[in-house]
Amino acid sequence: MQALPLPSSRPVKTTCPYCGVGCGVLAIPGDDGQWRVAGDPDHPANLGKLCSKGSALAETLSPDDRLLHPLIGNRPVSWDAALDAVARGFSDTVKRYGPDSVAFYLSGQLLTEDYYVANKLMKGFIGSAHVDTNSRLCMASTVAGHKRAFGSDTVPGCYEDLDQADLIVLVGSNAAWCHPVLYQRMVANRRDRGARIVNIDPRVTATTDQSDLQLSIAPDGDTALFEGLLVYLADTGKLDAEFIARHTEGFDAALNAARRGRGSLTSLVRRTGLPAEQIEAFYRLFADSERVVTCFSQGVNQSGAGTDKVNAIINCHLATGRIGRPGMGPFSLTGQPNAMGGREVGGLANQLAAHMRFDAKSRDMVGRFWNAPNVAAGEGLKAVEMFDAIDKGRIKALWVMATNPAVSLPRADRVRDALSRLDLLVVSENMAVTDTSRLAHIRLPASAWGEKDGTVTNSERRISRQRRFLPPMGDARPDWWIISQVGRRMGFEDAFGFQNAADIFREHAALSGFENAGGRDFDIGGLAVLSNAEYEGLAPVQWPLRRQAGTERLFADGGFFHPDGKARFVAPAAPVADGIDAGYPLMLNTGRVRDQWHTMTRTGKSARLAPNALEPFLDIHPLDMDAHGLTEGGVAKVRSPDGGATLRVRTNEGVAPGNVFAPIHWTGVNASAGRIGSLVHGVTDPWSGQPASKMTRVRVEPLRIRAEGFILSRMDLDLAGFAAYWARFKVDGGWGYVVAHDRPIAWASWFPSLARQAEGDAVEYTDPAAGIHRGAVVGERLELAAFITEGRHDASWSAIAPLLAADALSTADRLTLLSGRTADARPDNGPVVCACLGVGRLQIEAAVRDGHTSIEALGVELKAGTNCGSCVPELRAMLRSLDVAAT
Ligand code: SF4
Repeated sequence: MQALPLPSSRPVKTTCPYCGVGCGVLAIPGDDGQWRVAGDPDHPANLGKLCSKGSALAETLSPDDRLLHPLIGNRPVSWDAALDAVARGFSDTVKRYGPDSVAFYLSGQLLTEDYYVANKLMKGFIGSAHVDTNSRLCMASTVAGHKRAFGSDTVPGCYEDLDQADLIVLVGSNAAWCHPVLYQRMVANRRDRGARIVNIDPRVTATTDQSDLQLSIAPDGDTALFEGLLVYLADTGKLDAEFIARHTEGFDAALNAARRGRGSLTSLVRRTGLPAEQIEAFYRLFADSERVVTCFSQGVNQSGAGTDKVNAIINCHLATGRIGRPGMGPFSLTGQPNAMGGREVGGLANQLAAHMRFDAKSRDMVGRFWNAPNVAAGEGLKAVEMFDAIDKGRIKALWVMATNPAVSLPRADRVRDALSRLDLLVVSENMAVTDTSRLAHIRLPASAWGEKDGTVTNSERRISRQRRFLPPMGDARPDWWIISQVGRRMGFEDAFGFQNAADIFREHAALSGFENAGGRDFDIGGLAVLSNAEYEGLAPVQWPLRRQAGTERLFADGGFFHPDGKARFVAPAAPVADGIDAGYPLMLNTGRVRDQWHTMTRTGKSARLAPNALEPFLDIHPLDMDAHGLTEGGVAKVRSPDGGATLRVRTNEGVAPGNVFAPIHWTGVNASAGRIGSLVHGVTDPWSGQPASKMTRVRVEPLRIRAEGFILSRMDLDLAGFAAYWARFKVDGGWGYVVAHDRPIAWASWFPSLARQAEGDAVEYTDPAAGIHRGAVVGERLELAAFITEGRHDASWSAIAPLLAADALSTADRLTLLSGRTADARPDNGPVVCACLGVGRLQIEAAVRDGHTSIEALGVELKAGTNCGSCVPELRAMLRSLDVAAT
């Protein structure tokens, strides 16, 4: 493997590894040997901005919890031994059971080069198409919708459209939290140009804050809403007849179906759950705004009818010719940093490579290009099907790369059980322990962000470089290197002789342009001749890129990729009614929180990002909370037919009665029972195979809490058997845990048993009459502190947490340890609201009491909200509630 020397004294331009916005990041070396990050002002996606997650990237670079060496079982082995074992395991399985007995499960976190090599090995050389990716859970319905409408998986627009639109419609997209930098561009357009924002979401979210119209739609009501819009556009003379005639097919059929589906206004109101006047207000806005961008995201994709929803949206843009021109078009906001790159190489089981399908011509072409002996004959199993096949024993060997299916897939308990029955489970990972890697026979340490080179593609088709600025941690290696080494050991030396990421990128670019005379949308053939130095210096660029410059927008003048060059209107199928099951009366919606990413393996390492949401939670409307015997701040047991979770209860009037919401980030590593995937059912969209993760029927009941409190520990603790409910979060110097007990705590045995996990002298204070129990383990430093109160807990961990980061304890600190109160009156700032600048709720409340009663005044006084702006909706909500309280 060739590796270029690492820079030592200059900033390195790279790309954020989290969401699909794809922000440019400057990694800046400090004199102290530490790196810090800043937004890259030259990157077109973010123009120097970063959100709270991106701003905290430097805090995730520590060696803590990294997987540092290849392991077979729990035994460290050499790379040669590990790679031989993987190659032998896959070769033997194929020999014995055939190529369809093995599979790869990949990730939108991988770089395009990693993805390319994995796809080539499986689909060209092993001869199976069982390669799928966690992007199946994220945007597969958009891919299917694009292909049905455009004949290709093409995003027509670019981010500048969000600056230039007069109306931005967000559908199923909490962009304020999930695409924060892009959302700030939308908000700037609203502020500076007067653009309107319509937010279509069953929940009132942070995105609602800057919306002109909030449509709190019924789950899966979107198809009906956009079918109704198509009818409205036709009936009010807003169609672009020339565009429809010249560049599309199927309009009449789609309009007739929409008329039938829409029915009366009463039926539209019933199907969408929206008041008639709100529907009409939205339709008028859409009809009267030429420059409209409709952004859609997981709320559209993660549905049993996700592909139909995508097409219902696209139909309205095709009907008005509002596509591919400045400030207009349907726009899929991808969730992951490289979901698009995975689509480009063929990382989905129903794609071959370079946006090609499994037709005979494409198979022949790809086979000749790769000189591949064994091109897969047809589509492979999509994610949910793949894990069903593992469950049934049809797939015997699986290689999971950079993802955690034991947490994130629907029916996650069943997935976990199925993984444990594989003959061979290989996991390539950054982290030492995940729910999935716990089950692996072989663990391979993969290079993390900052240690590897390659490219990612963001939501606007922009390819950006991720660049290496750190040496690999331990024995870690780039994923492409690991896969290539296995390919060579399986007997395919010539096809996997890549020396560096640039070699792979050139081959990927050449394949995209191979025998491509414009008939395939994905073509970056112009980049196939980059030298290593040019690849190293590659500036962000949008595809298609057939010769030199990239392409901002497509389809303004037709040029779709169906054989006749025309787009297709697609009539959505009739909706399938969701029957209410009396045993499971609530509808569970799932999603993200502002400051965490996926299963928290990286963002969970930042103490700054933790406080905004310390625990897995259930948001519920107050009426349902009362009806189901829950209490604000209590703990709920949630059950679906497939599994269970135990979550902290939060009242949220933005969640409609009959619905609940829970975030996806907690795992078996950081919570007692926070894996939301274990609740989610296995229903998938018929076109895309994407799971309907936002609509699972559940029931809830209270967990009776007898005692609760917190633990702070320098070491990661094993809390199995120590509490009915616990959740772990990062603090400076170690870990914090919230714990709750559903039976009286036997402190006299509980604390000594816990204290044995730390080294030092144990001290205790208990007041059984008051139900107060406090203990600490102290050496030179604080090793562990536990505060438990019978009944509801009231001590604040934030007074104790700084002691864990201290190198030594003063006498006053030792007093604080058991009192829970700081002797020097260090203020408890409360839960963090502004993660970028560490401003807490109590600080904000104090500043408001002192007369700083606007967002601007709080920014001046505390700097809160002045970096990425993601907390501004929360600040605004606080101002409103404090104002109400004062009134
Ligand atoms: Fe990263 Fe935030 Fe930019 Fe997304 S918006 S790419 S998470 S900095």
